[in-house]
Amino acid sequence: MITRRSMLAGLASAIAVAGCTRAQSVEREWLIYTTLLKVRATAADQATANTCCQRVFDTIQTQGPDLYGFGDGELSRANTALSQGQSVELSDRLYDLLRRADVWRVASGGRFDPAVGGMVAAWGFDDLTRPQTGGVPDQAAIDRMIAATTTGYTFGGSRDLQSFDPAVRLDIGAIVKGALLAEAIAAVADNAVERLVVDLGGDVAVQSMAADDAFRVAVANPSGGPPSALLTMRSGEYVMTSGGYARYREIDGERYQHIIDPRSGWPVPPAAATVIGDDPVHADAAATALVVGGPKEFSAVCDAMGVDKALLIDNLGTHLTTASMRERLI
Ligand code: ADP
Ligand code: MG
Repeated sequence: MITRRSMLAGLASAIAVAGCTRAQSVEREWLIYTTLLKVRATAADQATANTCCQRVFDTIQTQGPDLYGFGDGELSRANTALSQGQSVELSDRLYDLLRRADVWRVASGGRFDPAVGGMVAAWGFDDLTRPQTGGVPDQAAIDRMIAATTTGYTFGGSRDLQSFDPAVRLDIGAIVKGALLAEAIAAVADNAVERLVVDLGGDVAVQSMAADDAFRVAVANPSGGPPSALLTMRSGEYVMTSGGYARYREIDGERYQHIIDPRSGWPVPPAAATVIGDDPVHADAAATALVVGGPKEFSAVCDAMGVDKALLIDNLGTHLTTASMRERLI
């Protein structure tokens, strides 16, 4: 995930594949904090393809910070106000995103929960680059956070958010990449791009002017190894992966990964879930809910979240797939 606003490295590569009359493909990469953004655009000319790549990057870089529950962006400021018992008026963008997140919180039976921020901080997952000293949070602190997730805040009349509990802390890190991919694709919709692939840290959007175009996309392996699977994707689809392998803390020799079951307040066993869908925020939320549910709840969570193309890989490497996802595996 992207966890800070600053971009550490700029353009890493720009490859133009030239041809006389053929379409031109431009491929560019940026490192945005710890997340690699790769964009490949094909257009009638190189300038158009390049502008498209740049616009994707600009959108993601400028729109990201307001969605983090820390730093000085909009959600972080809202968290500060909520912790002081004030109600906050949000931008349409953040309000709509939180509203949608709340729908999926309910649908997932609380497995995906945007009010998980207090737990994330209690476990020290909010900034894994900081040296971690604390141990496992005590049960009273965990119970306190469970209460804050379930009853902590409500949506007001216009675009208001009101907290009943100063411990409430919102964290939509689980769906930020989905939201940013959607915004990046919208930002280039008027660009005459024939084919576009945006890979934001392993979450991928594909677009093509040819309706029957098929894309081969490798599923990110959250443990950093070779891709977990190879998929066929169609224009307009997104593939979102949530994984508990790559980001974790070790406490007393025990590894705790960064996805928490909001119902228990404890990190769940490592697993990785991949969802294909037309709505990247929905697919992103569903992937997190699937990791929380684990193998036993795979079918139930797919049904509850309304996803038909899903893959779950547990910590033993066992693959669970829906029938529609099996059709996409290469
Ligand atoms: P990844 O970052 O591996 O793609 P996710 O997309 O699931 O995984 O995002 C995980 C992040 O979401 C965590 O770092 C934390 O900020 C937040 N989070 C953790 N547990 C939950 C949960 N049960 N529901 C919603 N958000 C969560
Ligand atoms: Mg996610």
